[in-house]
Amino acid sequence: MAQKARLLIVEDEEAIRSGLVDVFVYHGYDVDTAEHGKDGLNKALSGQFDLILLDVMLPGIDGFEICDRIRQQDRQQPVIMLTAKSSDEDIVQGLTLGADDYVAKPFSVTQLVLRVQAVLRRSGTTEDAAKEIRLNNSMVIDTENLCAGEIVFTRREMDVLQHLAAQSGRPVSREELLARVWGYANHMEIETRTVDIHIAKLRRKIESDPSSPQTIITVRGAGYRLMIENE
Ligand code: CA
Repeated sequence: MAQKARLLIVEDEEAIRSGLVDVFVYHGYDVDTAEHGKDGLNKALSGQFDLILLDVMLPGIDGFEICDRIRQQDRQQPVIMLTAKSSDEDIVQGLTLGADDYVAKPFSVTQLVLRVQAVLRRSGTTEDAAKEIRLNNSMVIDTENLCAGEIVFTRREMDVLQHLAAQSGRPVSREELLARVWGYANHMEIETRTVDIHIAKLRRKIESDPSSPQTIITVRGAGYRLMIENE
């Protein structure tokens, strides 16, 4: 990349923080850090970072609240949560608050670097996509402003919708979504769950009856199919 990507690491544990700084500086990133929730929040809201790595358990203000405050200000800001527990509850809460991804501690540094690269790649390559998606239920989704009227979408939810929409009604497997939207080459059970969590969130936003989906349809054994206008 022509300019170094700017990364903010919000992490109170000294050993992890300094380890992450070393790794990302080595990989060519411009890195800033915060140890406390309040400092992390102020820096996170400054808008000067391409991506924020955000620990959940922090003194002062926790990572969930920081993520929530970032989203209130900027829905596009890439955020990856570092969660101590790999419990579904933590992951669901992080993703509901709009984190682009999460990495459970203890994490593999190589995997974290790959995920940072994947999130940055997606956030930088969205301009050439269609400006709107028209669904079969006549909802029109504004892909640039991440909304449909009053309904707002996270960057990741929009990436899922755009990938499904680009397939012209073909069912897309969870593995393909993980590879194309999340940038994962390999997957584990917890990660395919991530796709299902996002699909469930999208259905609550776009289906009139999420328990009986008519727009994001599950095709048994094949994946998810998005029904767009005139299909
Ligand atoms: Ca911590």
